[in-house]
Amino acid sequence: MLKFALAGNPNSGKTTLFNGLTGSTAHVGNWPGVTVDKREGVYKKCDEPIALVDLPGIYSLSPYTQEEVIARNYILDEKPDCVINIIDATNLERNLYLTTQIMEIDVPVVLALNMMDAVEKRGDNIDAKELENRLGLPVVKISALKGEGLDKLMSIAYAASKVKREGKTVLEETALKHLVKDLTIALSGQGVENPVFHAVKLAELDDLEVLMHKDAVKMVDAFKKSNLDDTFGGDFEALVADGRYKYITKYFSPTLKRKNKDKFIVTPSDKADKILTHKIWGFPIFLLILFAIFHLTFSENLLFLGALFPEGYVTLQGTAFEGVFGEGGINSPGVTLMNLVGLLTDTISGGISSLLENSAPWVSGLICDGILGGVFAVLGFLPQILVLFLFFSILEDSGYMARIAFILDRALRKFGLSGRAFLPMIMGFGCSVPAMINTRTLADEKEKLATIRVIPFFSCGAKLPILTAVAGTIITKGSLTAGYADVITYSMYLLGMLTAFVSVILMRKTTQKGEIPPFIMELPAYHAPQIRNLIALLWEKAKHFIEKAFTIILASTIIVWVVSHFSFTWTFLDEEQMSNSILAGLSGLIQPIFTPLGFGSQLADYGWVFALAAITGLIAKENVVATLGSLAVGLGFAGIDGLFLATGITIPALLSFIAFNMTTIPCFAAVSAAKGEMSDKKKFNWTLLFWIAVSFIVSSAIYFIGTWWWTCFIYLVVAAIVCVVINLIDKKTIKA
Ligand code: GDP
Ligand code: MG
Repeated sequence: MLKFALAGNPNSGKTTLFNGLTGSTAHVGNWPGVTVDKREGVYKKCDEPIALVDLPGIYSLSPYTQEEVIARNYILDEKPDCVINIIDATNLERNLYLTTQIMEIDVPVVLALNMMDAVEKRGDNIDAKELENRLGLPVVKISALKGEGLDKLMSIAYAASKVKREGKTVLEETALKHLVKDLTIALSGQGVENPVFHAVKLAELDDLEVLMHKDAVKMVDAFKKSNLDDTFGGDFEALVADGRYKYITKYFSPTLKRKNKDKFIVTPSDKADKILTHKIWGFPIFLLILFAIFHLTFSENLLFLGALFPEGYVTLQGTAFEGVFGEGGINSPGVTLMNLVGLLTDTISGGISSLLENSAPWVSGLICDGILGGVFAVLGFLPQILVLFLFFSILEDSGYMARIAFILDRALRKFGLSGRAFLPMIMGFGCSVPAMINTRTLADEKEKLATIRVIPFFSCGAKLPILTAVAGTIITKGSLTAGYADVITYSMYLLGMLTAFVSVILMRKTTQKGEIPPFIMELPAYHAPQIRNLIALLWEKAKHFIEKAFTIILASTIIVWVVSHFSFTWTFLDEEQMSNSILAGLSGLIQPIFTPLGFGSQLADYGWVFALAAITGLIAKENVVATLGSLAVGLGFAGIDGLFLATGITIPALLSFIAFNMTTIPCFAAVSAAKGEMSDKKKFNWTLLFWIAVSFIVSSAIYFIGTWWWTCFIYLVVAAIVCVVINLIDKKTIKA
């Protein structure tokens, strides 16, 4: 099968093109660095099927970042039949810098001028024919977003792949011309493949090349000695870069005709950024936007209009839809959807349990309580997960998330956190696994380790049901009218982020000290989110969640049901006797561990359910709610709420329970992703210990301060001592 590679700058639309050509739904994000590893798919509309590889975004082929190494090695070693160099045509000159490097490799190259829709909207024009002549490469105008020109691009690339092509350099007009030529001849004499590319890289004294071609380095050194031109202080790398840019400006730039020449145009994006990335207001605006999202997802008192409604106001009273749309206030879209799904699952459970009325008690018990109680408890939260995820995707696709990294970088850089590390952290709101893999883009090993450790604190989709379920009980217990679920979930998310930032700061000051790499990120232009893209993302998320519900979570709930309904002597127990079950016995053993967190031995009859839920959550975080849901039905309570209230748990302990699940060891999948990203076993073991320690510290603090407010002074004193000690150590090491 033919193999084509897609190469281009970050955010040039590679993944959008890849998805358009292969029909896949890989993650498209409006920020650089989303595609960390390469990804493969098949294009079928040419005479032969073509395997397409989406390479990570790169600015050059130097070996400075992991992405560059992956892309460079792929093109050099795997020898694709054609490289499609995709370019953001709204930034033509800067994007062509990479093209001048790819051109040097002996591989057919086709230039795809992407985002032509945006170029035309500006009223600019690019003379593709002329550019084609000057580059000596086929040039095709496309819009990956609108799906325009894609088949034409592929048929031209297909034709190009059938013709051999030799590398060509644009350095012919520089002082390095002769050196490059001599090196090329020497290398091809040695039978080196891609001699032009290697010659240029050698002239730059690129680290990898110097190791590979030791004898040729002598030629460079000799040239350096004899060469008197030291415009760049003899820095050949700078000389090469300068040569490329000069060539681009002289020969390629004239093919671009700008409508508003010489005028510095303030785009709407620039105007929006004046406010959204404002020095002082940027951060509060971010918090506000985040709150708005939580309000729309969780609030049962939309826009706080509850006061306008009469006492006891309920929508559609007396019908099956009673309260779905509002009760005491208006329900947010998230809550309304959840209520609708709840109606559906209740109807299904009701139907099935009436069918099983006459079967053996263990059969109806297993199916109704165990399976349906557990799986439906989780599925019931799917609407809210999707609504929240939809908002996050809109933020991401519009380009705002990239700004958040920028704002956070500005605020937290002095504490040792860099903006680059925030991108994987923000990704953690979706799922920790891809977020941890994304940390590969971090060049500094220590920063990477610190980032992986705190990613789970950015509460993922699977943890959301825990927050919502517990928030419900807090509202009941506190007799709070009409909701506040949005305020509770929002605060807990912020707490997770705060814990993450404090932990990274502490690590960067102690065990994970290191340089903070400069954060250079181009802010992508804002654009309206793509509906197709959003639907694809939501569909993926829903599919993944449902699949998990009917596999891992189903299996776990069945096991939990069995061990909670049989005693050590293997007799079937009904709901009154469940406290004698195997499960209750075992959970009771670990229950004391959680006493300092508020949900341990101090709880009455069913206190063991918390210990159990926390443990099953290690398999998948959805299990926490699935287990509780299944047990609640089994024990004859009206939902998780009823079970919680029966244990006599307090509000601080409920908050502590959320915090514990948010910060403790994440699910299996995330743990193995973390392990995979860590070079040595010792670091991984420390990481596990770190998660356990953080969860106990944070949750116990919440419980203690929430229960006995004056204990906050003790915590403050301890925190102050820790700060002083760290600062002292810091000063000592600087002196040493
Ligand atoms: P990658 O980083 O190169 O993989 O780029 P993505 O495919 O993730 O796209 C980056 C951003 O550019 C996304 O927000 C896309 O919606 C947007 N984009 C991609 N292609 C086009 C296009 O042809 N026109 C416009 N206006 N935007 C595009
Ligand atoms: Mg991509």
